[in-house]
Amino acid sequence: MKFETKCVQAGWVPKNGEARVLPIYQSTTFAFDSAQHVADLFDLKVGGHFYTRLSNPTLDAVEQRIAALEGGVGAMLTSAGQAASMISLLTVAHAGDHIVSSSEIYGGTVNLFGVTLEKLGIQFTWVHPDASDAEIEAAIRPNTKAIFGETLANPALSVLDVERWAKVAHRNGLPLILDNTFPTPALCRPFEWGADIIVHASTKYLDGHAVSLGGIIVDSGNFDWAASGRFADFTEPDPSYHGLVYTQAFGKMAYIVKARAQLMRDMGAQAAPFNAFLLNLGMETLPLRMARHSENALKVAEWLSNNPHVRNVRYPGLKGDKYYALAQKYLPQGASGVVTFEVDGSRADTQRLMDAFKLAKIVVHVADARTCVLHPASMTHRQLTDEQLVAAGISPTTVRFSCGIEHIDDILEDLDQAFKATFN
Ligand SMILES: *Cc1c(COP(=O)(O)O)cnc(C)c1O
Repeated sequence: MKFETKCVQAGWVPKNGEARVLPIYQSTTFAFDSAQHVADLFDLKVGGHFYTRLSNPTLDAVEQRIAALEGGVGAMLTSAGQAASMISLLTVAHAGDHIVSSSEIYGGTVNLFGVTLEKLGIQFTWVHPDASDAEIEAAIRPNTKAIFGETLANPALSVLDVERWAKVAHRNGLPLILDNTFPTPALCRPFEWGADIIVHASTKYLDGHAVSLGGIIVDSGNFDWAASGRFADFTEPDPSYHGLVYTQAFGKMAYIVKARAQLMRDMGAQAAPFNAFLLNLGMETLPLRMARHSENALKVAEWLSNNPHVRNVRYPGLKGDKYYALAQKYLPQGASGVVTFEVDGSRADTQRLMDAFKLAKIVVHVADARTCVLHPASMTHRQLTDEQLVAAGISPTTVRFSCGIEHIDDILEDLDQAFKATFN
């Protein structure tokens, strides 16, 4: 099946007489005829669902669809993108371990890693996405367990050279874990370039309509945990599962089974069946939406670069952008829907511009069907002075513009009237 077909057909496959559309199994629990069957489920000897914290038929169908879209062997839904990032690392690392992470990743992930996981005893070294192989390698330690990055970073919009990062990771016996939220598998499938594990905030484009929080972890099945020699937790008996050895019992599925059997079991950051249903519905139109988001964003970026009140525009699909060449390689079908620009004016001018938008609503969100806009200096980063903002790579006049799937003429007209209202 081609990608577009998988978006609507993969996952839920009804048997004779069953619902054509994925049903919502709004049930925490499942009924059985024999105690032995439940014992076998607990021992992971047979597959099936017995408690929704661990698995659920609605979630399972959506997991299979996403695994098919990314080209992985298995996937696990989580309650939010944050839980997916957290569990993706806790499956490989514990107190005393170390992770190398790209420095240009989502702000919430920076906090999760640099504050919360550091407090739990996992250390991080931050490396710029443009770092040389030698610089990435210099950050790796004997206790390093993974390299983490974002395919297309939110909000920096840097494009990671996935193939190069994967090679560095693999020659050091490490998996490359990538957050693929902004491109989605419609625009980039990082497993094809060597990434081993993918995480998503499905909250964004996968859901696409800003209706449900969610996250997802996808396993390529390609990383050899035993051969690496760094992952005793995969190759030695797990006392919390009667001495089960993940690599022996589950082979290519070792990582994703461990993520569920240990981490989801213990932490309970499970997705709700209704949210999974909405996510499933959203994904049916993913390729159509991502094509339109990208097309609109490129036109917006071009329009902005011809506007005298704009100091600079950042969009990797725009000729002349620092990441244009990498975007041509990794995002040939489009560079997704988010554009950032700096207003050529003051912080107050930028706030006036924000207030003048009509179609583009001010929201603390990106990446959904409706065009929206965010001014970091007065919103997400408002506690910082102008000097601190610059140090954080954000100017007092930076605007993050998330292009929806409306008609481009309406989006450009809104930009035009907002700039005129601000500067005339
Ligand atoms: C939003 C976002 C997250 C966090 O997702 P939540 O669902 O809000 O927890 C993680 N990574 C990226 C790239 C994001 O944009």
